Amino acid sequence: MKVCVVGGGGREHALASVLGRTAEVVVTPGNPGIPGSVATPPEEIDADLFVIGPEVPLVAGLADRLRAAGGLVFGPGADGARLEGSKAWMKSLLADARVPTARHGAFSDVRAATAFLRTLAPPYVVKTDGLAAGKGVLVTDSLEDAVGDVTAKLSGVAFGAAGRRVVIEEGLVGAEVSLLCICDGRRAVPLAPAQDHKRLGDGDTGPNTGGMGAFSPVPGVGKDLVEEVVERAVEPTLHALHLRGVDFRGVLYAGLILTADGFKVLEFNVRFGDPEAQVVLPRLDCDLAALLAEAANGRLVSEPRFVDDAAVTVVLAAEGYPTAPRTGDVIHGLDAAAASPGVGIFCAGVGPGMTTAGGRVLAVTGTGPDLAAARARAYAAVGGISWPGMQYRTDIGAAGGAGGDSEQVARAAP
Ligand code: AMP
Repeated sequence: MKVCVVGGGGREHALASVLGRTAEVVVTPGNPGIPGSVATPPEEIDADLFVIGPEVPLVAGLADRLRAAGGLVFGPGADGARLEGSKAWMKSLLADARVPTARHGAFSDVRAATAFLRTLAPPYVVKTDGLAAGKGVLVTDSLEDAVGDVTAKLSGVAFGAAGRRVVIEEGLVGAEVSLLCICDGRRAVPLAPAQDHKRLGDGDTGPNTGGMGAFSPVPGVGKDLVEEVVERAVEPTLHALHLRGVDFRGVLYAGLILTADGFKVLEFNVRFGDPEAQVVLPRLDCDLAALLAEAANGRLVSEPRFVDDAAVTVVLAAEGYPTAPRTGDVIHGLDAAAASPGVGIFCAGVGPGMTTAGGRVLAVTGTGPDLAAARARAYAAVGGISWPGMQYRTDIGAAGGAGGDSEQVARAAP
């Protein structure tokens, strides 16, 4: 089977490397660090299966265009991608499907938004309705800051058109978990849970980023919780989409928060997470190309299987990320680090001559019999890589989990 992966980041590199176990893979546009990268646009590539990585082309209808041309596509059309393209639409769908989620209101008017904020207790949560590369969410204890953020977003100053409508939510407290499910329009099968680290600095300090690292499995998140999330959140969402005429063939990624009142869905994304893909996919112990082709065909019969080994990925970012990343620095030590046993390196912001070309540059994944071993391998490999101003967190996977005891850890889902 020939598979065309669309995108050019660490997630697409992870997809290409795991798909490449059983299929021939090209990546468009890819990047100079991803083998099989081609400049040809996807519409001009002859492939048996297209796998679309990022949300932006999905929201823009790339899956629809490829399907209209007769392609077999893993990734929702623009109708299903709206789940990620508009948080207000997603929240109304979740309400219809009775999926547990934070209380919310959607506003285009500062006065109405401020009045709603005053009915809530801190922390206040203000989100852009549209896509903002994971940076459109403010969580704050200050009502004044929340109102200021609403004003900046609604005026278009902060996020342009994406911010001209905001979703305001009650603030929830708890550990966060990502559960990605493969869907064929009717059926959803879960992948192994993962947890990511969104803040730039150690100890969850500093600004929000696209993600500075991740690990899988997640201590405390066992099979029972995964089943409950599939039954109470993912399947009802897929059903609600179906009732709206949406044939969702792709990833439903549930961003969950585990509160004292049980889990709630913070958001649904419509693609593999980045950097979650870099820990979940390497743990797969089945034919990913066949699995995604089944889903794309609307006939998902396989169950994904995972190895018991754990995986930890550490994102190496450029100086100045996330605000103004410096680019053009030569990356040293990559080949030697990639050759270490139990290590996979996924290239994201990598340019010609193996130079830095974006904010998040590499994701370094270690695998091992448990999280501690996986973490040790990832950080040993990180120690061999350098460029001026390289930054990363030193605590990825160190204190993660959902607060489970050791017994729960032992029963963690695959
Ligand atoms: P989202 O893009 O909606 O997942 O939001 C990004 C991040 O903001 C989440 O991973 C959470 O850390 C935080 N967040 C979003 N919604 C809430 C909420 N209702 N309560 C607390 N934190 C939230």
